[in-house]
Amino acid sequence: FSHGSPQPQGKTRVQGVRRIIAVGSGKGGVGKSTTSVNLALSLAAEGLKVGMLDADLYGPSIPKLLGIEGRTALRDDGIFQPHGAFGLKVMSIGSMLVPGQAVVWRGPMATSGLRQLLRETDWGDLDVLVIDLPPGTGDIHIGLFQQTIVDGVVIVSTPQDLALIDAQKAIDMLRRMSVPVLGLIENMSYFIAPDTGNRYDIFGTGGAERAAARLDIPFLGAIPLVMSIREHSDAGAPPVALLPDGPEALAYRNVARTL
Ligand code: ADP
Repeated sequence: FSHGSPQPQGKTRVQGVRRIIAVGSGKGGVGKSTTSVNLALSLAAEGLKVGMLDADLYGPSIPKLLGIEGRTALRDDGIFQPHGAFGLKVMSIGSMLVPGQAVVWRGPMATSGLRQLLRETDWGDLDVLVIDLPPGTGDIHIGLFQQTIVDGVVIVSTPQDLALIDAQKAIDMLRRMSVPVLGLIENMSYFIAPDTGNRYDIFGTGGAERAAARLDIPFLGAIPLVMSIREHSDAGAPPVALLPDGPEALAYRNVARTL
């Protein structure tokens, strides 16, 4: 079993896009998509022109998180028109499926599908494109990292060892494919009880910070486990990064400033 890494071959930039930041995770369910959306909105709040590409083709959740309805328009010239949501330009295969429809694609199909979403969309002029990666280290990641210059990847993990073990694998892939690792975010880091203000380290805490030190990558910050984050995403309500003064909004903004 060889440990050779797929070699980059002629990586290129995406027209009109100055910088690409991807958000990944080792496991699903750690809050990667929620974090992607809130980071994108926090970057936009800094005055940047921001786009979002949902690369989680088998489990697209960006349209729901941003309350996007309706199908993506394909223009006469064959170029996709992204949806607009809270100032972001957004592309997701989720906006091309009927509710409940699965994407049943082998690797090569997924790779070319993502390439099309990325390259055949009218992004206009963007400072940053945030890409929500699928969890893990599969075909979609390989295709993207081989073809496109990704300026950096943020890895989201919860504090438990089981999540961090897989986060380490995601970082290993990035290193082997020569993709810069921006750092690790600890999501669901701790819980503050709304009634008492007591702090509970439900999944233990500090695990991601220690893992980041061990892996020699920056620790970008901790996002608390907050009911409003889950409520807003389930309801398709404006994500919490848009709340003007909430501590959860501040947590995302602090991380976004490090990117
Ligand atoms: P992933 O993209 O890693 O699969 P999601 O972003 O879909 O994960 O999040 C999984 C679930 O956890 C969602 O219901 C989401 O609202 C919730 N969630 C994510 N981060 C937090 C948080 N910091 N506090 C509370 N709920 C969260």
